[in-house]
Amino acid sequence: MIDREGATWVAGHRGLVGRALVRRLEADGFTDLPLRDRDQLDLRREDEVERFFEAVRPAYVFLAAARVGGILANVTRPGEFIHDNLRIQVNLIEAARRYGVKKLLFLGSSCIYPKYAEQPIREDALLTGPLEPTNRAYAVAKIAGLEMCRAYRAQYGCRFISLMPTNLYGPGDTFDEASGHVVPSLMRRFHEARRGRSESVAVWGSGRPRREFLHVDDLADAALHAMDHYDGEEVLNVGSGNEVTIAELARRIAAVVGFDGRIEFDPSKPDGPPRKLLDVARMTALGWTASMPLDEGLRQTYDWYRNQVASGGSGASIRPSA
Ligand code: GDP
Repeated sequence: MIDREGATWVAGHRGLVGRALVRRLEADGFTDLPLRDRDQLDLRREDEVERFFEAVRPAYVFLAAARVGGILANVTRPGEFIHDNLRIQVNLIEAARRYGVKKLLFLGSSCIYPKYAEQPIREDALLTGPLEPTNRAYAVAKIAGLEMCRAYRAQYGCRFISLMPTNLYGPGDTFDEASGHVVPSLMRRFHEARRGRSESVAVWGSGRPRREFLHVDDLADAALHAMDHYDGEEVLNVGSGNEVTIAELARRIAAVVGFDGRIEFDPSKPDGPPRKLLDVARMTALGWTASMPLDEGLRQTYDWYRNQVASGGSGASIRPSA
């Protein structure tokens, strides 16, 4: 259990996952979370991280800080993805060890698994085959992070655990075409097409890849559950079972947004892996399952996006990530 005797810190509280964790923790009565914006604390800088740990001495850490992006951002900026993620992880995991953090939860991603892993993907598929090339730099950084948690547990007895969520979406996402994932990118494109009365909208790739989507509030719930009920070296998959083709996803988003024009596929853009469905038997055995149905989650995310647009796009979320 998070005993509340020391500070609980969400690293990366401006991101999709971090925001959901903060919402959830605040709803659970965690009032003074020590949050620092990027201009106050650059997690890529060891000296700044050190000073933060010295001053705050967090007892529980959710490591949700990462440079993340959709398929195009990963293809065009792999250097930033590997550099920033390695640095953030090394700085935070090492500081957590030195400052005696009671428990740390590291967030990875389903892209750590081999491109052609058997589906649904079990945790032990890790490192059994070649990775998907479009996000290999990001995946290798995340694999290094989870391995670091495992190594620190083995050598120093640190209670550091790792969660691997499937594709996430929800309020607080990046609604920017160049760096966003598929749900916010399509939501924005359909929204703008409807407003501009366009006849068609382009969807990247063939439309045939299948993806599983998990609402970020479900992930926050899973993260708290794992913090409270899990303390082992194996990673834990977190998925929803909500698996659809990209073509089907596009139809559902178009319906939510109210766009009734044509959907066209753009084969010049990459598809990524054909399928990424996670086996969630471990989380189920721990007593956790996802609850948000995809259509309801999409509606709720679109409501949030419309409010952001209506209020002039305040919040980092509809701008490209820095
Ligand atoms: P991935 O699961 O790491 O590939 O993450 P993405 O969310 O970026 O992409 C998921 C799938 O959606 C891929 O097959 C993309 O080709 C497809 N896709 C279709 N349209 C878009 C779009 O506008 N943006 C993104 N990011 N992906 C899109």
